[in-house]
Amino acid sequence: MSIFDKRLKGVRAPHCKNTMDCATQKMPVPDKVFICMSQHMGPPCDVLVKPGDEVKVGQVIGDSAAFLSAPVHSSVSGKVTGIEEIIMPNGTRTKTVVIETDKQQTYHESVKKPQVTDRASFLAAVRNAGLVGLGGAGFPTHIKFNPRNLNEVDTLIINGAECEPYITSDYRTMMERGEDVMMGIQAVMKYLDIPNCIIAIEENKPKGIARMQELAKGLPGVKVQPLPSRYPQGAEKVLIYETTGRVVPEGKLPADVNCIVSNITTIAHLALYLKEGIPLITKCVTVDGGAIAKPQNVEALIGTPIKDVIDFCGGYAKEPRKLLMGGPMMGTALYDDTYPILKNNNAILAFDESLAETQPETPCIRCGRCVRSCPVKLMPLRMEEAFLKDDYQGLQEYKVNLCIECGCCSYVCPAKRQLVQTNRLAKARLRKWMQEQNAKEGGKK
Ligand code: SF4
Ligand code: SF4
Repeated sequence: MSIFDKRLKGVRAPHCKNTMDCATQKMPVPDKVFICMSQHMGPPCDVLVKPGDEVKVGQVIGDSAAFLSAPVHSSVSGKVTGIEEIIMPNGTRTKTVVIETDKQQTYHESVKKPQVTDRASFLAAVRNAGLVGLGGAGFPTHIKFNPRNLNEVDTLIINGAECEPYITSDYRTMMERGEDVMMGIQAVMKYLDIPNCIIAIEENKPKGIARMQELAKGLPGVKVQPLPSRYPQGAEKVLIYETTGRVVPEGKLPADVNCIVSNITTIAHLALYLKEGIPLITKCVTVDGGAIAKPQNVEALIGTPIKDVIDFCGGYAKEPRKLLMGGPMMGTALYDDTYPILKNNNAILAFDESLAETQPETPCIRCGRCVRSCPVKLMPLRMEEAFLKDDYQGLQEYKVNLCIECGCCSYVCPAKRQLVQTNRLAKARLRKWMQEQNAKEGGKK
């Protein structure tokens, strides 16, 4: 039996795609933006501007020499009024450039159609666009597009699954920016020399599937593959298995099974950069949840305070008891609504008391539901036991690092065990423990 046996994988969570048919509404330029230097997986960017500087739209205001990084651009024209340090929802501190906008949206001279003639100039353009995985992970796209074995990669998978409840921003990309999606796909296939492309979409988006099928007609090597609507269909390893039957081994990457996976909105933004040189400065986010007055999809400038976005949606209809950046399964809870919109932010969800209520944890009844729901076939109850006993070797044996933090185990647990949160903490503590072990080993030599 494969580790991705269909009978065991994932959960059937309610879709709640309330905003599917809401065309994206463009937000006006806010008075101030707060642009974080940490909007990608990898070390944060260095700030390249100082208070008092005038900046323009598309100007690089943060960059890093680190391998795993992507530049950060100003989303507005205006004046830098401060460099502040903010605490991110995950507890890390990051520098943030505060810009008072002039509402003119004057473009910087660097914003122009890039010269792309070969693979090297294409990859440079992808980096210059500031692109990262927009499905939530924030992995720098130019690194993803350039694995060591690129010449063996035969399949580009476009992730349009959007399996998390509530979120519909990728669906709006399919419906509103379909031509950009096709242009981006063709560019990736051409410059990376990838013969096949699969656009993977959950079956609960029939209009999106039809639109992509219509646009993909006549494009050699491009096909649309509908997938069962089952969370977490859009998780990278699950998606690869569902579309190609290939299993990414433990500790390996999609390229190790000759695939590259890219989020559909990332691909649409790539096309915009290739056409006009406009880097990643806006983001479509789904604003929903029982506490929002007018749930809808909003195109906001990166750095816009979440409060401004919520005000644009009519404000709170009810007192919010839980505010999430991202979906209800994998999103991050926010302390308040002062955080800014980030590149990889695809939803803001505000829940009132009826939906935010948490039930007390009770002892594990050994029902095994968490094991049956885990898409990577881990044993969440065993990992929790090991974590509670500070058993780091046990955590390694139960392979906690393979946990993709999808939340299925917590969702199905009748005892309301906080399993996914435990796994997150367990991974962090295991990392620290391994560093300490390595330091001890080094000291003995
Ligand atoms: S959160 Fe981790 S352990 Fe739980 S179901 Fe998802 S992958 Fe498995
Ligand atoms: S689902 Fe909850 S109660 Fe059931 S075995 Fe897993 S941790 Fe225990």
